[in-house]
Amino acid sequence: MPPLVFPSPSLSTKLLPPLHHSTIPSATHSRRPHLSGDPPRTVVITSGKGGVGKTTATANLSASLARLGFRVTSIDADAGLRNLDLLLGLENRVHFTASDVFSGECRLDQALIRDRRFNNLHLLCLSKPRSKLPLSFGSKTITYLVDALKTLEPDNPVQFVLIDCPAGVDAGFVTAIAPADEAILVTTPDITALRDADRVAGLLECDGIKDIKIVVNRVRADLVRGEDMMSPLDVQEMLGLPLLGVIPEDAEVIRSTNRGSPLVLNDPPAPAGIAFEQAAWRLVEGDTMTAVALEEADRQPKKGFGWFSFFGR
Ligand code: ADP
Ligand code: MG
Repeated sequence: MPPLVFPSPSLSTKLLPPLHHSTIPSATHSRRPHLSGDPPRTVVITSGKGGVGKTTATANLSASLARLGFRVTSIDADAGLRNLDLLLGLENRVHFTASDVFSGECRLDQALIRDRRFNNLHLLCLSKPRSKLPLSFGSKTITYLVDALKTLEPDNPVQFVLIDCPAGVDAGFVTAIAPADEAILVTTPDITALRDADRVAGLLECDGIKDIKIVVNRVRADLVRGEDMMSPLDVQEMLGLPLLGVIPEDAEVIRSTNRGSPLVLNDPPAPAGIAFEQAAWRLVEGDTMTAVALEEADRQPKKGFGWFSFFGR
């Protein structure tokens, strides 16, 4: 099993320009990502198994996309275990939810919570914490909701709708995937998460979602090198799906969660934050990555991709 290249923090700091909380990416990157596909793009972040990093991925991709200047609405569709608001540091601002919109208590724009850092990023929770979604809130309701979001501001339309999906494959999952055209399947490199991810991939395809990409999260280079953990390449081959990103295990993830500030905003950048940022670029550009073995990376001359692709190619 070939080992992978992972950036050490010192390497990543050396290779990367500092990240600023700017919505003008050209100040920190040599170019802007080219938006592929027809906006608004509706992407569900799902997994099957719980605790693999869906909400972490949603928060970080949302913040990255917003910083790149895209207009983003993130929907917390994990109604019972809502915590996207915490990861974005917006928990004190959630006064209204989508359920309140449908019960006539508020307008849709009142349920959209604007991020403190980026005025082009909004959060929409489906229901209050620990409260179940009304039974009537199913696939048709959420599809109607997302359609309404897309037309809410015709002069400044949303470009990405990211949906944080609940674990499992029951009603909450079916509801969350209904409006999506694309899916990001988050998995950890272990056999239980992979089996669930494989099942979910099949269900997504049955639902007509053909554009499915994987994010392999919590990868430990030392364990992969010692052949004690599956490599992202193994994961990719087992699932037979394109790879959007490989995220290392990183203690900074938990720190940023507790701070309510997505890791991609860390300065200096943390390895997992850099990897999420790269995944966001690939998402925008409709690109994928191939995991690179250490020996191969050492052999290959640098192709001038710079910081953008040092996790793979
Ligand atoms: P899910 O939404 O799939 O249930 P979460 O995003 O809530 O998963 O993540 C579950 C736990 O794993 C959280 O405590 C989170 O901080 C931690 N975690 C997620 N990704 C990483 C990572 N790359 N490194 C370290 N901890 C992580
Ligand atoms: Mg979650």
